[in-house]
Amino acid sequence: MALTGLDIYKLLPKTNCKDCGFATCLAFAMALAQKKASLDKCPHVTKEAREILESASQPPIKLVTIGAGEKKLEMGNETVMYRHEQKFYHPAGIGILVEDTLKDAELDDRLSKINALKFERVGRQISIDLICIKNSSGDLARFADVAIKVAGQTDMNLALSSKSSSAIEEVFKVSGDRKPGFPAEAGSRQKRENLHYGSRRPLIICEEGSAADSFAEIAKKYNVPLAITCSGAQDAADITNRVRQAGVEEIVISLKGKGISDKIQGFTFIRRTALKNNARSLGYPLLAFTDAVEPYAELAEAVSYVLKYASLVIVKNVDKDFILPLLVARQDIYSDPQKPVQVEPKVYEVGKVGRASPVIVTTNFSITYFTVAGEVEASKVPAYIVCCDAEGMSVLTAWAAEKFTPESICETIESMGVDKIVGHKKLIIPGYVSVMSGKLEEITGWKIFVGPREASGIPNYLRSLKL
Ligand code: SF4
Repeated sequence: MALTGLDIYKLLPKTNCKDCGFATCLAFAMALAQKKASLDKCPHVTKEAREILESASQPPIKLVTIGAGEKKLEMGNETVMYRHEQKFYHPAGIGILVEDTLKDAELDDRLSKINALKFERVGRQISIDLICIKNSSGDLARFADVAIKVAGQTDMNLALSSKSSSAIEEVFKVSGDRKPGFPAEAGSRQKRENLHYGSRRPLIICEEGSAADSFAEIAKKYNVPLAITCSGAQDAADITNRVRQAGVEEIVISLKGKGISDKIQGFTFIRRTALKNNARSLGYPLLAFTDAVEPYAELAEAVSYVLKYASLVIVKNVDKDFILPLLVARQDIYSDPQKPVQVEPKVYEVGKVGRASPVIVTTNFSITYFTVAGEVEASKVPAYIVCCDAEGMSVLTAWAAEKFTPESICETIESMGVDKIVGHKKLIIPGYVSVMSGKLEEITGWKIFVGPREASGIPNYLRSLKL
């Protein structure tokens, strides 16, 4: 929890010596609270006060990174319980479970399905983030073989889950040994390095809290994040303190499965205690495995964890019909409520357009654009869609906020040279803003057609339109 200016002032020397460049200690404290000054500017602050102030300036939930490079998965750094209070910073990662008890053919099939889980929605690519290899066999050699095979067939982030730290260490050792001597036919140098778990920076998951100490040694040795399975919040606080003292900073908390309701209560308590009480020992990202087996129940469970408050959710189902709604739910929850999802303001072509094609004008709110584009496509009438820059607002909101006005539409069609793209001067506006048709016609010199209010009316409207 952030300290107020007054809280900070109480920890300063209160001598008003001005060495920090501020007239008084109180002024310096206020500047610190607003993050407009750095604590280093006061040379007189005591060691104890410095520790308290530095700790309070850390994010209440630690940032933990799995993997490296462009695809790395960052978790944590969250500062609020509810999205509307500010925003969430790091979307929950979605991982798929791969057990090492699978036969080779089943493993190949599962990996090829996992690699195909990529989708596009409202102009954005959405996909899963991680594969979690679970040591269900209890066999070290089989676990290492499966882990290396998975690493060779995907560039996604990886997690290794086991009850035994020896099984995890086996993967690091075997993959490290294979790197230099791996046969040339296995592929490029990059491909060989991908097999090496030391360079993939996986999350290692300790399935039994009692084994946390030996897992901490491995996490420290290979500089990888560590997830520990705990029976509840108190257990989590005890273990994270121990693991941190062992030198591991990047920690993730997983709760032992007692059903969805218990887990969500546990996650909510941990998140609230970390944020509101600044409980450092609980200020870590949360990991959830789904327990449900039936697909709809598993989907509902996974979405619930995305909502409250898992930073990584690992599921069993790999069907596209299961994964897509889960990714959509995540995308919606983790969009910034202060920044509407926008498309680039420009002229979009739908179908094989020509100089006689209709021109529809709308705003650049992503959902508005994609809904309109989908209906135009369904009409089979090729058309241009002119997206005006309305700061990503929907039509009515933008109109009410004066971001979608006759003047702004006029400026848009002129700056985008729409009159050079088509051989007519006819513009279709959304039915909800029919009130602006007269003024728009007057200032643009274009004939204005009032389209339907709802996008669902577009197909019939376009099919019967006579320009
Ligand atoms: Fe106060 Fe430190 Fe600034 Fe001096 S340098 S005025 S003690 S905050």
